[in-house]
Amino acid sequence: MLKNDHLEAWDRENFFHPSTHLAEFARGVTPQRIITGAKGCHIEDRDGNRLLDAFAGLYCVNVGYGRQEIAEAIAAQAKELAYYHSYVGHGTEASITLAKMILDRAPEHMSKVYFGLGGSDANETNVKLIWYYNNILGRPEKKKIISRWRGYHGSGLVTGSLTGLELFHKKFDLPLAQVVHTEAPYYFRRDNLEQTEAEFVAHCVAELEALIAREGADTIAAFIGEPVLGTGGIVPPPEGYWAAIQEVLERHDILLVADEVVTGFGRLGTMFGSEHYGMKPDLITIAKGLTSAYAPLSGSIVSKKMWAVLEQGTDENGPIGHGWTYSAHPIGAAAGVANLKLLDELKLMENAGETGAYLNAAMADALGDHAHVGEVRGEGMLCAVEFVKARDGRVYFEASEKIGPQIAGALLAEGVIARAMPQGDILGFAPPFCLTREEADEVVGKTAKAVKSVLG
Ligand code: PLP
Repeated sequence: MLKNDHLEAWDRENFFHPSTHLAEFARGVTPQRIITGAKGCHIEDRDGNRLLDAFAGLYCVNVGYGRQEIAEAIAAQAKELAYYHSYVGHGTEASITLAKMILDRAPEHMSKVYFGLGGSDANETNVKLIWYYNNILGRPEKKKIISRWRGYHGSGLVTGSLTGLELFHKKFDLPLAQVVHTEAPYYFRRDNLEQTEAEFVAHCVAELEALIAREGADTIAAFIGEPVLGTGGIVPPPEGYWAAIQEVLERHDILLVADEVVTGFGRLGTMFGSEHYGMKPDLITIAKGLTSAYAPLSGSIVSKKMWAVLEQGTDENGPIGHGWTYSAHPIGAAAGVANLKLLDELKLMENAGETGAYLNAAMADALGDHAHVGEVRGEGMLCAVEFVKARDGRVYFEASEKIGPQIAGALLAEGVIARAMPQGDILGFAPPFCLTREEADEVVGKTAKAVKSVLG
């Protein structure tokens, strides 16, 4: 591509970038980066930079960039049949095959998969299915959804409400009234520093119980959670959390939605996070790793228990009034089939577990004792470093100091992409599963250097 064209100017003049400071971007304060190519764990931009992408895009390019097998599957599907809809019993070889591949990998008690395009719309589908389910069961009052502060479930109206991050609510009139939030299972940020992990889990359970008592169990339909909190800070749950939460949900007949948009298809070293933590969800949200983002595709995996009620509903009311033009788009489905095959053939899930553990251990070794590192944590191919002003008494930096973004910027200057997580000074890593130990060493070494340059 020619360098002397107008792309940079056109970008600032015409393109509404998501999750961007619009005014600063338009004014030219926010830098722009035009990506031109990528291979394995590296991306290249138009200025000739080659960067190690330790966040796999938005934790989605799980099998790595530049996989010809997926590109060829997409091209072959586009040539043969670029589109047909999936309404009223229509399908394609790719969509039917992918549905089977997903169910073959999902927990035993799951029954069907509905296909969407992204994680947000999949969670939107989940909420509709939950409401439908309780209407069919004659419980029209049982509709509220419990989510956790710091949970991330999308940025639509309902899903932005489920998301428990201030930025996604402020000035958008969210959250909607049907969504209520409870304590995040974030042991490091507990209020009471004296609490043991077990006591903190008991505290999360007590908070949930109190919320249910306040709202009335007969008004609460479901609880949604990511097996490991993602955008809220990359926080694995404390030991015993999911078992204790599930016991409460079962007692109050509250459905569980496992949002596995990040954890699904291998990121924790297991096929699903539900399997990893012994969760038995009624719905599982999938997206990102389903196609490794080679094409937009998401899904809601529905349990046998809910499916039976959905069937009853259509017997009583006619066809389900839910569907998108692009549900089960053949190009997305072809990408999904090729992606899941590659995941198996190259044993990438196994590498996510092994190299992920190596990355986490190396990061903890390099930074665990730093005076401004409060915690190094992670699970599988997810890792986070949380910064504090003082470890003693766990004092945080002021948000205005932008410590997280400064360190992410310094690391970028070293040629490595990590993500300054949106709430708190937390540097997040979620590399492609094909990361090698040498690349993990590079990520850790350069992170240590970047931290030193900002915090000493
Ligand atoms: N759920 C989780 C756990 C996510 O991390 C995300 C996106 O990061 C979403 C849902 C929303 O997905 P999308 O951005 O594809 O709408």
